[in-house]
Amino acid sequence: DDELLVSGRGFDAADDAVSARQVGVLAVVGRPNVGKSTLVNRILGRRAAVVEDTPGVTRDRVSYDAEWAGTDFKLVDTGGWEADVEGIESAIASQAEIAVQLADAVVLVVDGLVGLTATDERIVKMLRASGKPVTLAVNKIDDGASEYLAAEFWKLGLGEPHSISAMHGRGVGDLLDVALESLRKTEKTSGLLTPTGLRRIALVGRPNVGKSSLLNQLVGSERSVVNDLAGTTRDPVDEVVNVDGEDWLFIDTAGIKRRQHKLSGAEYYSSLRTQAAIERSELALVLFDVSQPISDQDLKVMSTAVDAGKAIVLVFNKWDLMDEFVRQRLERLWITEFNRVTWAQRVNLSAKTGWHTNRLSRAMREALESWDKRIPTGKLNAFLGKVQAAHPHPLRGGKQPRILFATQASTRPPRFVIFATGFLEHGYRRYLERSLRDEFGFEGSPIQISVNIRE
Ligand code: GDP
Ligand code: GDP
Repeated sequence: DDELLVSGRGFDAADDAVSARQVGVLAVVGRPNVGKSTLVNRILGRRAAVVEDTPGVTRDRVSYDAEWAGTDFKLVDTGGWEADVEGIESAIASQAEIAVQLADAVVLVVDGLVGLTATDERIVKMLRASGKPVTLAVNKIDDGASEYLAAEFWKLGLGEPHSISAMHGRGVGDLLDVALESLRKTEKTSGLLTPTGLRRIALVGRPNVGKSSLLNQLVGSERSVVNDLAGTTRDPVDEVVNVDGEDWLFIDTAGIKRRQHKLSGAEYYSSLRTQAAIERSELALVLFDVSQPISDQDLKVMSTAVDAGKAIVLVFNKWDLMDEFVRQRLERLWITEFNRVTWAQRVNLSAKTGWHTNRLSRAMREALESWDKRIPTGKLNAFLGKVQAAHPHPLRGGKQPRILFATQASTRPPRFVIFATGFLEHGYRRYLERSLRDEFGFEGSPIQISVNIRE
Protein backbone atom coordinates (compact mmCIF):
# COMPACT_ATOMS: atom_id res chain seq x y z
CA ASP A 1 0.00 0.00 0.00
CA ASP A 2 2.82 2.32 0.88
CA GLU A 3 4.35 2.27 -2.56
CA LEU A 4 1.41 4.01 -4.09
CA LEU A 5 1.47 6.83 -1.66
CA VAL A 6 5.16 7.35 -1.66
CA SER A 7 5.16 7.67 -5.42
CA GLY A 8 3.11 10.84 -5.16
CA ARG A 9 5.63 13.57 -5.83
CA GLY A 10 3.58 16.05 -3.89
CA PHE A 11 4.18 14.25 -0.63
CA ASP A 12 7.75 15.40 -0.39
CA ALA A 13 8.41 18.24 1.97
CA ALA A 14 10.41 20.11 -0.64
CA ASP A 15 7.41 20.27 -2.92
CA ASP A 16 4.89 21.13 -0.30
CA ALA A 17 6.97 23.66 1.54
CA VAL A 18 5.40 27.07 1.23
CA SER A 19 7.98 29.76 0.69
CA ALA A 20 7.87 33.02 2.62
CA ARG A 21 6.57 34.90 -0.43
CA GLN A 22 3.62 32.62 -0.92
CA VAL A 23 0.29 33.39 0.69
CA GLY A 24 -0.60 29.73 1.07
CA VAL A 25 -1.68 26.51 -0.61
CA LEU A 26 -4.65 26.33 -2.96
CA ALA A 27 -5.90 22.85 -3.90
CA VAL A 28 -8.00 22.16 -6.99
CA VAL A 29 -10.40 19.27 -6.40
CA GLY A 30 -13.29 17.69 -8.24
CA ARG A 31 -14.33 14.43 -9.81
CA PRO A 32 -12.39 13.09 -12.78
CA ASN A 33 -12.82 14.79 -16.15
CA VAL A 34 -14.36 18.04 -14.94
CA GLY A 35 -11.32 19.96 -16.20
CA LYS A 36 -9.01 20.29 -13.21
CA SER A 37 -5.81 19.81 -15.19
CA THR A 38 -7.00 22.17 -17.86
CA LEU A 39 -7.66 24.78 -15.18
CA VAL A 40 -4.30 24.23 -13.51
CA ASN A 41 -2.53 24.58 -16.83
CA ARG A 42 -4.50 27.71 -17.57
CA ILE A 43 -3.46 29.22 -14.22
CA LEU A 44 0.15 28.24 -14.76
CA GLY A 45 -0.02 29.84 -18.19
CA ARG A 46 0.84 26.72 -20.12
CA ARG A 47 -0.79 25.10 -23.09
CA ALA A 48 -2.86 22.17 -21.92
CA ALA A 49 -0.12 19.67 -22.52
CA VAL A 50 -0.71 17.01 -19.90
CA VAL A 51 -4.48 16.71 -20.07
CA GLU A 52 -5.69 13.12 -20.07
CA ASP A 53 -8.67 12.37 -22.24
CA THR A 54 -9.31 8.99 -20.64
CA PRO A 55 -11.77 9.30 -17.77
CA GLY A 56 -10.65 7.89 -14.47
CA VAL A 57 -6.96 7.97 -15.28
CA THR A 58 -5.37 8.51 -11.95
CA ARG A 59 -2.72 11.08 -11.45
CA ASP A 60 -0.57 11.77 -8.50
CA ARG A 61 -1.11 14.89 -6.59
CA VAL A 62 1.32 17.50 -7.85
CA SER A 63 2.04 20.95 -6.53
CA TYR A 64 3.30 23.95 -8.44
CA ASP A 65 4.54 27.42 -7.66
CA ALA A 66 1.95 29.74 -9.13
CA GLU A 67 1.45 33.45 -9.45
CA TRP A 68 -1.64 35.50 -10.18
CA ALA A 69 -1.87 39.28 -10.41
CA GLY A 70 1.25 39.70 -8.32
CA THR A 71 0.28 37.14 -5.67
CA ASP A 72 2.45 34.06 -5.21
CA PHE A 73 0.87 30.87 -4.01
CA LYS A 74 1.22 27.10 -4.08
CA LEU A 75 -1.18 25.35 -6.42
CA VAL A 76 -2.00 21.67 -5.89
CA ASP A 77 -3.56 19.55 -8.59
CA THR A 78 -5.31 16.51 -7.16
CA GLY A 79 -6.09 13.20 -8.79
CA GLY A 80 -9.74 12.53 -9.51
CA TRP A 81 -11.85 12.13 -6.42
CA GLU A 82 -14.33 9.30 -6.58
CA ALA A 83 -16.60 8.19 -3.80
CA ASP A 84 -17.39 4.59 -2.95
CA VAL A 85 -14.14 3.14 -4.12
CA GLU A 86 -12.43 0.36 -2.25
CA GLY A 87 -9.02 -0.99 -1.39
CA ILE A 88 -6.17 0.52 -3.28
CA GLU A 89 -8.58 2.79 -5.15
CA SER A 90 -9.63 4.28 -1.90
CA ALA A 91 -6.01 5.11 -1.18
CA ILE A 92 -5.94 7.12 -4.37
CA ALA A 93 -9.18 8.88 -3.54
CA SER A 94 -7.64 9.65 -0.20
CA GLN A 95 -4.90 11.57 -1.89
CA ALA A 96 -7.42 14.22 -2.78
CA GLU A 97 -8.54 14.29 0.84
CA ILE A 98 -4.98 14.64 1.99
CA ALA A 99 -4.41 17.42 -0.52
CA VAL A 100 -7.36 19.20 1.06
CA GLN A 101 -5.97 18.68 4.54
CA LEU A 102 -2.71 20.16 3.38
CA ALA A 103 -4.28 23.13 1.66
CA ASP A 104 -5.27 26.46 3.12
CA ALA A 105 -8.13 26.93 0.65
CA VAL A 106 -9.83 24.92 -2.07
CA VAL A 107 -11.28 25.42 -5.54
CA LEU A 108 -13.96 22.84 -6.24
CA VAL A 109 -14.42 22.26 -9.96
CA VAL A 110 -17.71 20.87 -11.29
CA ASP A 111 -18.78 20.20 -14.85
CA GLY A 112 -21.45 22.63 -16.09
CA LEU A 113 -22.29 20.50 -19.12
CA VAL A 114 -22.89 17.35 -17.08
CA GLY A 115 -24.68 19.14 -14.26
CA LEU A 116 -24.78 18.37 -10.57
CA THR A 117 -23.89 14.78 -9.63
CA ALA A 118 -24.07 12.71 -6.46
CA THR A 119 -20.28 12.57 -6.41
CA ASP A 120 -20.10 16.37 -6.42
CA GLU A 121 -22.34 16.34 -3.37
CA ARG A 122 -20.15 13.83 -1.60
CA ILE A 123 -17.08 15.89 -2.29
CA VAL A 124 -18.83 18.89 -0.80
CA LYS A 125 -19.51 16.87 2.32
CA MET A 126 -15.85 16.00 2.61
CA LEU A 127 -14.87 19.62 2.05
CA ARG A 128 -17.32 20.80 4.71
CA ALA A 129 -15.76 18.43 7.21
CA SER A 130 -12.33 19.82 6.40
CA GLY A 131 -13.43 23.32 7.35
CA LYS A 132 -11.39 24.83 4.53
CA PRO A 133 -12.77 27.80 2.57
CA VAL A 134 -14.11 26.65 -0.80
CA THR A 135 -14.56 28.59 -4.03
CA LEU A 136 -16.89 26.88 -6.51
CA ALA A 137 -15.96 26.80 -10.21
CA VAL A 138 -18.50 25.62 -12.78
CA ASN A 139 -16.36 24.65 -15.74
CA LYS A 140 -17.06 24.21 -19.45
CA ILE A 141 -19.26 27.28 -19.64
CA ASP A 142 -17.58 28.24 -22.88
CA ASP A 143 -19.88 31.11 -23.81
CA GLY A 144 -22.53 33.43 -22.44
CA ALA A 145 -25.34 31.34 -23.91
CA SER A 146 -24.64 28.44 -21.54
CA GLU A 147 -24.25 30.69 -18.52
CA TYR A 148 -27.62 29.55 -17.13
CA LEU A 149 -26.14 26.06 -16.52
CA ALA A 150 -24.21 27.37 -13.54
CA ALA A 151 -27.34 28.28 -11.57
CA GLU A 152 -28.23 24.78 -10.39
CA PHE A 153 -24.94 24.61 -8.44
CA TRP A 154 -26.25 27.14 -5.93
CA LYS A 155 -27.82 24.01 -4.43
CA LEU A 156 -24.41 22.90 -3.16
CA GLY A 157 -24.56 25.65 -0.56
CA LEU A 158 -21.07 26.91 -1.30
CA GLY A 159 -22.17 30.38 -2.31
CA GLU A 160 -21.85 31.80 -5.77
CA PRO A 161 -21.00 29.32 -8.52
CA HIS A 162 -18.31 30.97 -10.65
CA SER A 163 -18.80 29.98 -14.24
CA ILE A 164 -15.56 29.47 -16.14
CA SER A 165 -14.13 27.96 -19.24
CA ALA A 166 -10.79 26.51 -18.28
CA MET A 167 -10.19 25.74 -21.91
CA HIS A 168 -10.69 29.28 -23.17
CA GLY A 169 -9.79 31.17 -20.02
CA ARG A 170 -13.22 32.71 -19.63
CA GLY A 171 -13.95 33.76 -16.02
CA VAL A 172 -10.74 32.22 -14.66
CA GLY A 173 -9.36 35.61 -13.54
CA ASP A 174 -12.46 36.45 -11.52
CA LEU A 175 -12.42 32.99 -9.98
CA LEU A 176 -8.80 33.39 -8.89
CA ASP A 177 -9.45 36.82 -7.42
CA VAL A 178 -12.06 35.27 -5.13
CA ALA A 179 -10.03 32.13 -4.34
CA LEU A 180 -6.87 34.08 -3.53
CA GLU A 181 -8.82 36.46 -1.33
CA SER A 182 -9.97 33.47 0.74
CA LEU A 183 -6.38 32.27 0.84
CA ARG A 184 -5.11 35.61 2.08
CA LYS A 185 -7.67 35.57 4.87
CA THR A 186 -6.57 32.17 6.15
CA GLU A 187 -2.95 33.18 6.04
CA LYS A 188 -3.44 35.48 9.00
CA THR A 189 -4.28 32.61 11.29
CA SER A 190 -2.05 29.92 9.83
CA GLY A 191 0.95 32.13 10.52
CA LEU A 192 4.05 31.70 8.42
CA LEU A 193 7.23 33.56 9.24
CA THR A 194 6.82 37.22 10.03
CA PRO A 195 8.02 39.67 7.39
CA THR A 196 11.07 40.26 9.54
CA GLY A 197 11.85 36.55 9.38
CA LEU A 198 11.89 36.28 13.16
CA ARG A 199 10.12 33.61 15.13
CA ARG A 200 7.15 34.89 17.13
CA ILE A 201 7.13 34.31 20.86
CA ALA A 202 4.33 34.87 23.36
CA LEU A 203 5.40 35.33 26.96
CA VAL A 204 2.43 34.19 29.02
CA GLY A 205 1.37 33.28 32.56
CA ARG A 206 -0.99 34.58 35.19
CA PRO A 207 -0.30 37.96 36.80
CA ASN A 208 2.78 38.10 39.08
CA VAL A 209 4.57 35.04 37.76
CA GLY A 210 7.31 37.37 36.55
CA LYS A 211 6.62 38.09 32.88
CA SER A 212 7.68 41.71 32.90
CA SER A 213 10.67 40.88 35.09
CA LEU A 214 11.80 38.26 32.61
CA LEU A 215 11.23 40.55 29.66
CA ASN A 216 13.23 43.29 31.35
CA GLN A 217 15.96 40.84 32.19
CA LEU A 218 16.15 39.74 28.55
CA VAL A 219 15.89 43.20 27.06
CA GLY A 220 18.40 44.75 29.44
CA SER A 221 17.59 47.52 31.85
CA GLU A 222 18.34 50.51 29.66
CA ARG A 223 15.97 49.76 26.81
CA SER A 224 13.17 48.55 28.99
CA VAL A 225 12.86 51.95 30.67
CA VAL A 226 12.22 53.53 27.31
CA ASN A 227 9.76 50.85 26.35
CA ASP A 228 7.89 51.10 29.60
CA LEU A 229 7.10 54.68 28.73
CA ALA A 230 6.07 53.74 25.24
CA GLY A 231 3.92 50.94 26.54
CA THR A 232 1.75 53.24 28.58
CA THR A 233 0.83 55.46 25.68
CA ARG A 234 0.85 53.22 22.64
CA ASP A 235 -1.15 50.34 21.29
CA PRO A 236 0.04 46.79 21.76
CA VAL A 237 3.52 46.47 20.37
CA ASP A 238 5.73 43.62 19.43
CA GLU A 239 9.36 43.94 20.18
CA VAL A 240 12.53 42.36 18.91
CA VAL A 241 14.30 40.86 21.90
CA ASN A 242 17.76 39.39 21.81
CA VAL A 243 17.95 36.21 23.84
CA ASP A 244 21.44 34.90 24.30
CA GLY A 245 22.70 36.22 20.99
CA GLU A 246 19.62 35.50 18.91
CA ASP A 247 16.76 37.82 17.91
CA TRP A 248 13.14 36.83 18.50
CA LEU A 249 9.91 38.74 18.04
CA PHE A 250 8.08 38.98 21.35
CA ILE A 251 4.35 39.52 20.88
CA ASP A 252 2.49 42.32 22.65
CA THR A 253 5.23 43.36 25.02
CA ALA A 254 3.26 46.48 25.91
CA GLY A 255 0.60 44.20 27.39
CA ILE A 256 3.21 42.42 29.47
CA LYS A 257 4.66 45.61 30.85
CA ARG A 258 1.42 47.29 31.79
CA ARG A 259 1.22 47.35 35.55
CA GLN A 260 -2.47 48.19 35.86
CA HIS A 261 -3.35 44.60 34.98
CA LYS A 262 -3.06 43.88 38.65
CA LEU A 263 -6.03 46.10 39.38
CA SER A 264 -9.32 44.35 40.03
CA GLY A 265 -11.53 43.60 37.05
CA ALA A 266 -8.58 43.48 34.75
CA GLU A 267 -8.37 39.71 34.74
CA TYR A 268 -10.83 39.14 31.95
CA TYR A 269 -9.05 41.70 29.87
CA SER A 270 -5.68 40.18 30.56
CA SER A 271 -6.84 36.68 29.65
CA LEU A 272 -8.22 37.91 26.33
CA ARG A 273 -4.95 39.58 25.71
CA THR A 274 -3.08 36.38 26.53
CA GLN A 275 -5.24 34.45 24.10
CA ALA A 276 -4.61 36.96 21.34
CA ALA A 277 -0.87 36.86 21.94
CA ILE A 278 -0.83 33.05 21.83
CA GLU A 279 -2.89 33.05 18.66
CA ARG A 280 -0.37 35.26 16.91
CA SER A 281 2.67 33.43 18.21
CA GLU A 282 4.51 30.32 17.07
CA LEU A 283 5.84 29.44 20.49
CA ALA A 284 4.57 30.24 23.97
CA LEU A 285 6.91 30.66 26.91
CA VAL A 286 4.57 29.61 29.72
CA LEU A 287 5.72 31.04 33.04
CA PHE A 288 5.03 29.59 36.48
CA ASP A 289 5.94 30.99 39.87
CA VAL A 290 7.52 28.09 41.78
CA SER A 291 7.15 29.91 45.10
CA GLN A 292 3.36 29.62 44.81
CA PRO A 293 1.10 26.59 44.45
CA ILE A 294 0.15 26.01 40.83
CA SER A 295 -3.32 27.46 40.28
CA ASP A 296 -6.11 26.68 37.84
CA GLN A 297 -5.31 29.91 36.10
CA ASP A 298 -1.71 28.76 35.53
CA LEU A 299 -2.92 25.54 33.98
CA LYS A 300 -5.51 27.33 31.88
CA VAL A 301 -2.87 29.51 30.29
CA MET A 302 -0.81 26.43 29.52
CA SER A 303 -3.78 24.59 28.00
CA THR A 304 -4.64 27.59 25.85
CA ALA A 305 -1.21 27.40 24.26
CA VAL A 306 -1.29 23.63 23.80
CA ASP A 307 -4.83 23.64 22.41
CA ALA A 308 -3.88 26.38 19.99
CA GLY A 309 -1.26 23.98 18.65
CA LYS A 310 1.72 26.12 19.56
CA ALA A 311 5.19 25.01 20.49
CA ILE A 312 5.78 25.58 24.20
CA VAL A 313 8.58 25.93 26.70
CA LEU A 314 7.68 25.72 30.38
CA VAL A 315 9.49 28.30 32.46
CA PHE A 316 9.69 27.71 36.20
CA ASN A 317 10.50 31.16 37.50
CA LYS A 318 11.68 32.47 40.88
CA TRP A 319 14.01 29.53 41.28
CA ASP A 320 16.02 31.71 43.69
CA LEU A 321 13.18 31.14 46.20
CA MET A 322 13.55 27.39 45.92
CA ASP A 323 13.81 25.39 49.15
CA GLU A 324 13.12 21.82 50.17
CA PHE A 325 9.41 22.41 50.75
CA VAL A 326 8.96 24.13 47.38
CA ARG A 327 10.97 21.46 45.64
CA GLN A 328 8.82 18.63 46.97
CA ARG A 329 5.61 20.41 46.09
CA LEU A 330 6.89 20.99 42.58
CA GLU A 331 7.87 17.37 42.05
CA ARG A 332 4.37 16.27 43.05
CA LEU A 333 2.80 18.81 40.74
CA TRP A 334 5.03 17.75 37.92
CA ILE A 335 3.46 14.30 38.08
CA THR A 336 -0.14 15.31 38.66
CA GLU A 337 -0.62 18.58 36.79
CA PHE A 338 1.88 18.42 34.00
CA ASN A 339 1.34 14.90 32.69
CA ARG A 340 -0.34 16.36 29.63
CA VAL A 341 2.85 18.07 28.58
CA THR A 342 5.60 15.63 29.47
CA TRP A 343 6.97 16.33 25.99
CA ALA A 344 7.65 19.96 26.81
CA GLN A 345 11.04 21.24 27.87
CA ARG A 346 11.24 22.86 31.23
CA VAL A 347 13.66 25.66 32.08
CA ASN A 348 14.21 26.56 35.71
CA LEU A 349 15.38 30.15 36.04
CA SER A 350 15.27 33.37 37.97
CA ALA A 351 14.05 36.43 36.14
CA LYS A 352 15.23 38.50 39.06
CA THR A 353 18.87 37.45 39.06
CA GLY A 354 19.10 36.33 35.44
CA TRP A 355 20.18 32.84 36.49
CA HIS A 356 19.68 30.31 33.64
CA THR A 357 17.94 32.78 31.33
CA ASN A 358 20.65 31.83 28.83
CA ARG A 359 19.03 28.40 28.61
CA LEU A 360 15.88 29.75 27.01
CA SER A 361 17.02 30.23 23.45
CA ARG A 362 18.12 26.66 23.00
CA ALA A 363 14.86 25.27 24.34
CA MET A 364 12.92 27.64 22.09
CA ARG A 365 14.92 26.66 19.03
CA GLU A 366 14.45 22.96 19.68
CA ALA A 367 10.72 23.29 20.28
CA LEU A 368 10.27 25.21 17.02
CA GLU A 369 12.31 22.62 15.14
CA SER A 370 9.87 19.98 16.36
CA TRP A 371 6.96 22.22 15.45
CA ASP A 372 8.27 22.55 11.88
CA LYS A 373 9.28 18.93 11.49
CA ARG A 374 7.95 16.80 8.67
CA ILE A 375 8.28 13.02 8.47
CA PRO A 376 8.40 11.68 4.90
CA THR A 377 5.42 9.47 4.11
CA GLY A 378 7.50 6.40 3.29
CA LYS A 379 9.40 6.57 6.55
CA LEU A 380 6.23 7.19 8.53
CA ASN A 381 4.44 4.20 7.03
CA ALA A 382 7.41 1.90 7.45
CA PHE A 383 7.56 2.89 11.10
CA LEU A 384 3.84 2.57 11.76
CA GLY A 385 3.94 -0.83 10.12
CA LYS A 386 6.45 -1.94 12.73
CA VAL A 387 4.54 -0.31 15.56
CA GLN A 388 1.35 -2.03 14.50
CA ALA A 389 3.07 -5.40 14.14
CA ALA A 390 4.52 -5.08 17.65
CA HIS A 391 1.14 -4.14 19.15
CA PRO A 392 -1.91 -4.74 16.99
CA HIS A 393 -5.09 -2.94 17.97
CA PRO A 394 -7.21 -5.05 20.36
CA LEU A 395 -10.12 -6.93 18.81
CA ARG A 396 -13.40 -5.04 18.79
CA GLY A 397 -16.54 -7.09 18.22
CA GLY A 398 -14.54 -9.82 16.55
CA LYS A 399 -12.89 -7.35 14.19
CA GLN A 400 -9.46 -5.88 14.33
CA PRO A 401 -9.10 -2.28 13.19
CA ARG A 402 -6.03 -2.01 11.04
CA ILE A 403 -3.97 0.97 9.93
CA LEU A 404 -3.89 1.12 6.12
CA PHE A 405 -1.51 4.01 5.84
CA ALA A 406 -0.72 7.42 7.23
CA THR A 407 0.62 10.73 6.16
CA GLN A 408 1.71 13.89 7.88
CA ALA A 409 -0.85 16.34 6.60
CA SER A 410 0.80 19.45 7.97
CA THR A 411 3.40 20.99 10.23
CA ARG A 412 3.16 23.78 12.80
CA PRO A 413 2.17 21.72 14.70
CA PRO A 414 2.79 18.30 13.14
CA ARG A 415 -0.56 16.76 12.24
CA PHE A 416 -0.92 13.16 11.17
CA VAL A 417 -3.81 11.62 9.32
CA ILE A 418 -4.14 7.89 9.77
CA PHE A 419 -6.37 5.89 7.49
CA ALA A 420 -7.67 2.80 9.27
CA THR A 421 -10.26 0.10 8.70
CA GLY A 422 -12.07 0.94 11.92
CA PHE A 423 -12.24 3.16 14.98
CA LEU A 424 -8.97 3.36 16.91
CA GLU A 425 -9.42 3.44 20.66
CA HIS A 426 -8.11 6.34 22.69
CA GLY A 427 -5.51 4.14 24.36
CA TYR A 428 -4.23 2.98 21.00
CA ARG A 429 -3.95 6.53 19.73
CA ARG A 430 -1.93 7.35 22.82
CA TYR A 431 0.31 4.39 22.04
CA LEU A 432 0.77 5.67 18.50
CA GLU A 433 1.58 9.17 19.70
CA ARG A 434 4.08 7.85 22.24
CA SER A 435 5.72 5.70 19.60
CA LEU A 436 5.93 8.60 17.15
CA ARG A 437 7.51 10.77 19.81
CA ASP A 438 10.00 8.08 20.82
CA GLU A 439 11.04 7.56 17.23
CA PHE A 440 10.99 11.04 15.76
CA GLY A 441 11.38 13.43 18.69
CA PHE A 442 8.89 16.32 18.58
CA GLU A 443 10.11 17.60 21.93
CA GLY A 444 8.41 20.88 22.75
CA SER A 445 5.63 20.59 20.21
CA PRO A 446 2.12 19.21 20.46
CA ILE A 447 1.29 16.68 17.77
CA GLN A 448 -2.17 15.96 16.48
CA ILE A 449 -3.43 12.65 15.17
CA SER A 450 -6.69 12.25 13.32
CA VAL A 451 -8.07 8.96 12.16
CA ASN A 452 -9.95 8.56 8.93
CA ILE A 453 -12.03 5.40 8.72
CA ARG A 454 -12.28 3.55 5.44
CA GLU A 455 -14.57 0.58 5.75
P1 GDP B 1 -9.56 16.45 -14.93
O1 GDP B 1 -9.68 14.96 -14.99
O2 GDP B 1 -10.57 17.03 -13.99
O3 GDP B 1 -8.19 16.95 -14.69
O4 GDP B 1 -10.03 17.00 -16.37
P2 GDP B 1 -9.16 17.42 -17.64
O5 GDP B 1 -8.50 18.73 -17.42
O6 GDP B 1 -8.29 16.27 -18.00
O7 GDP B 1 -10.30 17.66 -18.72
C1 GDP B 1 -11.22 16.64 -19.05
C2 GDP B 1 -11.84 16.91 -20.42
O8 GDP B 1 -12.63 18.10 -20.38
C3 GDP B 1 -10.77 17.14 -21.48
O9 GDP B 1 -11.20 16.51 -22.66
C4 GDP B 1 -10.76 18.65 -21.66
O10 GDP B 1 -10.37 19.01 -22.97
C5 GDP B 1 -12.20 19.02 -21.38
N1 GDP B 1 -12.34 20.39 -20.87
C6 GDP B 1 -11.62 20.94 -19.85
N2 GDP B 1 -11.99 22.22 -19.67
C7 GDP B 1 -12.96 22.50 -20.58
C8 GDP B 1 -13.72 23.68 -20.89
O11 GDP B 1 -13.60 24.75 -20.30
N3 GDP B 1 -14.64 23.57 -21.89
C9 GDP B 1 -14.81 22.41 -22.57
N4 GDP B 1 -15.73 22.41 -23.52
N5 GDP B 1 -14.09 21.30 -22.31
C10 GDP B 1 -13.17 21.33 -21.34
P1 GDP C 1 4.06 39.74 35.84
O1 GDP C 1 2.78 40.22 36.43
O2 GDP C 1 3.95 38.32 35.38
O3 GDP C 1 4.61 40.63 34.77
O4 GDP C 1 5.11 39.68 37.04
P2 GDP C 1 6.23 40.73 37.47
O5 GDP C 1 7.40 40.64 36.56
O6 GDP C 1 5.60 42.06 37.64
O7 GDP C 1 6.69 40.10 38.83
C1 GDP C 1 5.83 40.00 39.95
C2 GDP C 1 6.65 40.03 41.22
O8 GDP C 1 7.52 38.90 41.27
C3 GDP C 1 7.55 41.26 41.31
O9 GDP C 1 7.55 41.69 42.64
C4 GDP C 1 8.91 40.71 40.92
O10 GDP C 1 9.98 41.44 41.49
C5 GDP C 1 8.85 39.31 41.43
N1 GDP C 1 9.74 38.41 40.70
C6 GDP C 1 9.74 38.21 39.35
N2 GDP C 1 10.69 37.29 39.01
C7 GDP C 1 11.28 36.90 40.15
C8 GDP C 1 12.32 35.95 40.48
O11 GDP C 1 12.90 35.30 39.62
N3 GDP C 1 12.64 35.82 41.79
C9 GDP C 1 12.01 36.51 42.77
N4 GDP C 1 12.39 36.31 44.01
N5 GDP C 1 11.03 37.40 42.50
C10 GDP C 1 10.66 37.61 41.23
